[in-house]
Amino acid sequence: MRTSKEEMIENQLKARGIVSHDVINAMQAVDRENFVPEKVKKHAYEDGPLHLGDGQTISQPYIVAYMAEVLGLSQYDRVLEIGAGSGYNAAVIAKIAGEIYSVEIISWLAEYARENIASAGISNVQIKEGDGRFGWKEKSPFDAIVLTAATENVPDELKKQLRIGGRLMAPVGKSVQELVLMEKHSETEFSKKYLAGVRFVPLRGQTQG
Ligand code: SAH
Repeated sequence: MRTSKEEMIENQLKARGIVSHDVINAMQAVDRENFVPEKVKKHAYEDGPLHLGDGQTISQPYIVAYMAEVLGLSQYDRVLEIGAGSGYNAAVIAKIAGEIYSVEIISWLAEYARENIASAGISNVQIKEGDGRFGWKEKSPFDAIVLTAATENVPDELKKQLRIGGRLMAPVGKSVQELVLMEKHSETEFSKKYLAGVRFVPLRGQTQG
């Protein structure tokens, strides 16, 4: 039997400790089946990532909810996402925060994410094709930045584009990664919290481009 959205919310989110009403409502409001290829739609609410093509994946629902909850987004926040992929994570955070800017390095995925977000009737997300390691300077500073691809080091340019007091979340590491939450205290001081072991696809352009 197929897993329904309601079952996903109960068994994968609430049962594992997601408590934010904003996050639960956002996960309720966005249909994940509209962000995945036709042949995996029947698996849309299963407890894992799904393939999009080109080796890229849409994150597990729990991880999307967990990152949104830990970032503590609020309705006026301006958020930068690196790695739009299917557009699903951007769509979920768009239901909570004010303005979402997302950078995607793969051309067809930037277009795919744009189409998925437009079909979902969401208008507070902008997607740009480019290398997210350089952020989106014209739209900075951001209240929050979220990387949905793993990096060995958080790029300096992203730290610069975060406002003081802002939060940045990134999977840090190579094949073994940890989700790290940073908070910017001054132009040079950041606090760091290690949250959980995770597995994300790597951020491209670091060594071999
Ligand atoms: N947030 C996505 C899942 C992202 S998977 C979703 O909700 O579906 C990681 C994405 O990061 C992939 O789409 C990949 O193409 C993209 N990516 C990898 N390196 C990147 C870079 N340097 N800049 C921008 N996007 C990048």
